[in-house]
Amino acid sequence: MEGTKKHTQLADLGEFGLINRLTEKIQLKNESSVKGVGDDAAVLSYPDKKIVITTDLLTEGIHFNLMYVPLKHLGYKAVVVNLSDVFAMNAQPKQITVSIAISAKFSLEAIEELYSGIHLACEKYGVDLIGGDTTTSLTGLTISITAIGEAAEEELTYRSGAQVNDLLCVSGDLGGAYMGLQLLERENEVFKVNPKAQPQFDGYNYILERQLKPEARGDIVSLLKTLGIKPTSMIDISDGLSSEILHLCKNSKVGCNLYEEKVPLDQQTKRMAEELNINPLVAALNGGEDYELLFTVPIDKYDVVKKEFDFTVIGHITPESEGANLVTTGGSVIPLQAQGWNPLK
Ligand code: ADP
Ligand code: MG
Repeated sequence: MEGTKKHTQLADLGEFGLINRLTEKIQLKNESSVKGVGDDAAVLSYPDKKIVITTDLLTEGIHFNLMYVPLKHLGYKAVVVNLSDVFAMNAQPKQITVSIAISAKFSLEAIEELYSGIHLACEKYGVDLIGGDTTTSLTGLTISITAIGEAAEEELTYRSGAQVNDLLCVSGDLGGAYMGLQLLERENEVFKVNPKAQPQFDGYNYILERQLKPEARGDIVSLLKTLGIKPTSMIDISDGLSSEILHLCKNSKVGCNLYEEKVPLDQQTKRMAEELNINPLVAALNGGEDYELLFTVPIDKYDVVKKEFDFTVIGHITPESEGANLVTTGGSVIPLQAQGWNPLK
């Protein structure tokens, strides 16, 4: 895994030595971060804001495969997936805590790689790492990150606010992260049979990045504010478009029409899908891990939103009795099904 790199045993360093190495360079950036690492608990100050808090747990072998996921990317992504949840509330992330369970196969240098990705994401998104916990595990690596953010009460967007006739919008493009994963899995299979084989990634940078180094769409939250649009509902796409639309519809007690021809797909997503004989629409609907924002806006904003390149109108909200449907390019109406990724299956 690490070639000829230095390999310091964690046992030699001890828990406190490790925590110190991982956190000694932290400089708190946000006014709301009063006390970070180094006491029994962190101290935050949010005098007149609402606080949002969200957490995610990632385990080796279930959520990530270290055969092809570099530890730095893993650290970065583990932060980003949490920030994405904060942005989906129309809030601004400010702090994270990071808890890790490490098995004996990891060296100090490996954990520092993981943290270099965590620190990079904190830098990029202006977030303070204010604490965490460190322990050992018998097998593999587990990472749990909690993100804390702020918003004025009237800015918060819930899954429950979509209204009949609202426009259904999505940022960026979909299905790329899933196709990137398929490519990584394919090359990993080739490698298992022939360790000397060079992976074939040419022309697929974008989808690999979508899988390995996703970004959280805070830029969309800011853009909507600039446009004077407050989404009536919002959710981030972690489990695939179908599943997220169904969450919005269920929580808002509405239906929707999603138009197949409007679903944004990147060229590389389409090309990889063709190569692997997968319908790229299925990757967008059921693939997941795109971390784009799905949101609804009042119909009277149509003139504003239709000019935007950073997001696409993909459908509209209907009465609940009409159900949540996909309208295909051929004009058929098919009920949407949640085939989102279910880790317990
Ligand atoms: P306690 O015994 O009170 O749980 P710890 O020794 O676990 O304290 O942690 C000491 C300090 O280091 C605390 O501020 C804690 O939040 C922080 N910390 C522990 N583990 C991590 C980690 N993996 N990443 C960042 N901060 C950590
Ligand atoms: Mg502790």
